[in-house]
Amino acid sequence: MLDLIIVGKGLAANIIALRLQEHQIHYCIIGEPSLSNCSRIAAGLWNPIVFKRMTLSWKADELIKELKEFYTSIEKRTGSQFYNERVIIKPFFSEEEKNFWVKKSQDDLSQFIDKQIYAANSQHNGLVIPNSYGLVNNCGNIDMHNFLNSCEHLHPENKNEVFDHSQLQINEDHVVYKNIKAKNIIFCEGYLVKNNPFFNWIPMNSVKGEILDIEAEGIELEKQILNHNAFIFKLKDKSFKMGSTYDWNELSDDASEKGKQELIEKLNGLIKTPYKIISHKAGVRPSTIDRRPIIGRHPLHKNLFVFNGLGTKGVMLAPYFSKKFVHFYLNKGALDPEVDVKRFYSKFNNG
Ligand SMILES: Cc1cc2nc3c(=O)[nH]c(=O)nc-3n(C[C@H](O)[C@H](O)[C@H](O)COP(=O)(O)OP(=O)(O)OC[C@H]3O[C@@H](n4cnc5c(N)ncnc54)[C@H](O)[C@@H]3O)c2cc1C
Repeated sequence: MLDLIIVGKGLAANIIALRLQEHQIHYCIIGEPSLSNCSRIAAGLWNPIVFKRMTLSWKADELIKELKEFYTSIEKRTGSQFYNERVIIKPFFSEEEKNFWVKKSQDDLSQFIDKQIYAANSQHNGLVIPNSYGLVNNCGNIDMHNFLNSCEHLHPENKNEVFDHSQLQINEDHVVYKNIKAKNIIFCEGYLVKNNPFFNWIPMNSVKGEILDIEAEGIELEKQILNHNAFIFKLKDKSFKMGSTYDWNELSDDASEKGKQELIEKLNGLIKTPYKIISHKAGVRPSTIDRRPIIGRHPLHKNLFVFNGLGTKGVMLAPYFSKKFVHFYLNKGALDPEVDVKRFYSKFNNG
């Protein structure tokens, strides 16, 4: 009998699987990647700063430390390259904004934002940086496509198929799915958790996002990410990734004309050279009503677990919280109440 069945083929499922391997826990991973796009199309960025409020992102310190250790260890293991450290260029649009930045750089954000203010100059040809700008350190991106492709080869038992919840038999101390018997099952289905009859009561606040790959000449952007109102960073040679949009109403993986127009408008605020759109994609981020992951055990069926709610920050959250989940799973530690699915049990009990 296996220890665990993992349902999903995105970031959450793959990272949970790799964490289980660290503890020699035997699992089978079942997922149909074509059902949803989110992890495969994500920009994969991490950024310790919430620009709107100029505060540190939740647990940024611990999350970034863990993500670096985790992704680089998988790079070494697979011989693939997907971990990229970068800095964010943040242009200022008012004197007030600049002064607040300077204050923060000497205060609580000193570890993450550069004290120096840079003058807009010809170093960044092709970019729209009208005035001065600041830099954020400790940022970067994971090439999600490469990362997920590398993971595919690491799972000893790996099935590409749609999981049919009606075929899951739940017994006192094990579950059976078709011909697979396991002690437990964990669902990592992203926003499609809405179709899971065991966990569809989880209060998601999923949000669609669209993103472009473009080709452009004359943009000087190497290891940096330009961020204002949207982001752009270099993939290779003349190709760049830019995004993204936020739409809470039309939850589908279909790239839309409305999304494209919004992205083009944002792109015009980032670059001033001619470009060609190479690809335009969409996915749905599994965000939650309190913007925290949702992890833990089903209130009634003790052998059913969930790992979801990675929202807009899956790249940062998943390495840290997958480790916490495995500790919890092995009865070595409790989950942080802020992420424990228990916080929604009362809602469940009240119907
Ligand atoms: C445009 C865009 C840009 C983004 N940029 C960033 C970024 O820069 N940085 C960042 O950290 N995050 C970013 N994100 C968010 C990030 O993609 C998510 O946090 C993360 O990928 C969520 O992973 P997940 O595994 O929980 O969900 P998903 O990626 O949705 O994975 C769920 C998986 O479960 C499978 N599945 C579901 N139901 C079934 C079933 N019944 N049977 C079989 N398989 C099933 C799906 O096919 C899928 O493979 C972005 C998202 C979008 C849309």
